[in-house]
Amino acid sequence: MNRFVAIIIFLAIAAEAPCEIILDVVYPRFGDDGALPVIDQVDSSFVFGSVDPPGCIVLVNGLEAKVYPNGAFMAFVPLDYESMSYSVYARSHTDDAMIVVPFTFPEPVAADTLDYTLPVTLEVTHPHAVIRYSEDYGVYYMFPVEGAICFADRIDDNFFGIRLNEAERVWIEDKFVEVRPDLPLPSVSRVYSLYVDDFDSEVQLVIPVMKRPLHRVIELTDPPRLRVILYGFESHIDVIRNRTSYIREVRWEQLNPETLALTLFLDSPRNWGYYAEIDSNGYFIFKVRKPPPTSLEHLRIAIDPGHGGTDFGAIGPTRLNEKEINLIIAEKLARILNRKGTAVFLTRTTDEFVELYDRMDKAYKWGADLFISIHNNAVSDGVNPFERRGVGVYYYHPNSLELARAVYKRLLDKTELPDDGLYYGNLAVPRTTTMPSILVEAAYIIHPEDEMLLRNEKFKKRIAIAIYKGIKDFIKTTQRETDNW
Ligand SMILES: [Zn+2]
Repeated sequence: MNRFVAIIIFLAIAAEAPCEIILDVVYPRFGDDGALPVIDQVDSSFVFGSVDPPGCIVLVNGLEAKVYPNGAFMAFVPLDYESMSYSVYARSHTDDAMIVVPFTFPEPVAADTLDYTLPVTLEVTHPHAVIRYSEDYGVYYMFPVEGAICFADRIDDNFFGIRLNEAERVWIEDKFVEVRPDLPLPSVSRVYSLYVDDFDSEVQLVIPVMKRPLHRVIELTDPPRLRVILYGFESHIDVIRNRTSYIREVRWEQLNPETLALTLFLDSPRNWGYYAEIDSNGYFIFKVRKPPPTSLEHLRIAIDPGHGGTDFGAIGPTRLNEKEINLIIAEKLARILNRKGTAVFLTRTTDEFVELYDRMDKAYKWGADLFISIHNNAVSDGVNPFERRGVGVYYYHPNSLELARAVYKRLLDKTELPDDGLYYGNLAVPRTTTMPSILVEAAYIIHPEDEMLLRNEKFKKRIAIAIYKGIKDFIKTTQRETDNW
């Protein structure tokens, strides 16, 4: 691939200018290695940065950008497909400056087509594998346990088509599995009994069959229950030994000759998390967390400042870094919670890079009851950034909706930012099943007005207080639910 060097042209009329214009284009952004900015192939997209002195007029591809009192500017303009660049021009009474920012489009990735004799046995070898409903990057559908065995009878580029039963086929990318021609194709196994055992903070459902099945969990409410769908099982269940009071009842249902569904009725108004694994015997174990004591003094809360280290997150028009702001807000929230007696775990306390899944794994090992990820937002290429500002909160599993709603309401109320919305969102961090988990996008750091607010210490404190109050509201709700249970 050709890599151009940025063409930066300053047309300063230095002789006459009492002060030069300083023009900084922040987005589109060059790669760390100087690679051309890559933007999606869209009709119009945005350009932002800052200019000093702030009174300048800024034109992007000849169209006037909006310049804010602090010198931040932003424009949403059609892409020039001929020049494949943006020209950003700033003018004061005495001076002018221009920067040309070339860009390129993402290169289409030619996927390898897998070459295996079908059907073939697969082992899931990734701890955070994803199974999709359809090939070619369909929606996330199942999250198999590491070590699960299944077989593929279709191939589409780099996806294996997995046969679940006569009616259902799902798809997994080859990076999550190892092909195991040495293993026989998995067949349907009989289940004669089930055990549910009690432990300090969780209960465990055991299927005492040496099988590493694919499974799918559906969380249901009214009454609260977890429905675990298991593929490749035939029920001969005559005995269910339940030694817990937290699982009130286990019901089984054979959905079709190859698919067994187990429904666990919880003795709690809400589900506090679950986790499946295959134990050393090769048995499928489904762990359900018991409710924690719901008071600020007893809850353990993980706070996750998004990004860090080489991952800057979004960068604002005046180069405010998301990773720094996230950490400051997280620390403020941690201090507030600590003062109330809440044990807090921060997934990072310095400007370091932490893998996404490590954040949840560490929080789970620490014994966190809630997970709050803190971010500040940006829009994707092609989206008009003038139309997106303010508070957004994301959840994925139903057991996180109430927490998301409580934090969202308080953020809207306390920060008086515009309402970006409460979202179901397929994001890695909220996808964790081990505890209620939400992701807060406090404000749009790429929007000049939001960025200006985020520079203010008092404003960041207001965000932290709002999140704290949202957590408190959620705890109150759970206490009320428990009292009425
Ligand atoms: Zn972020």
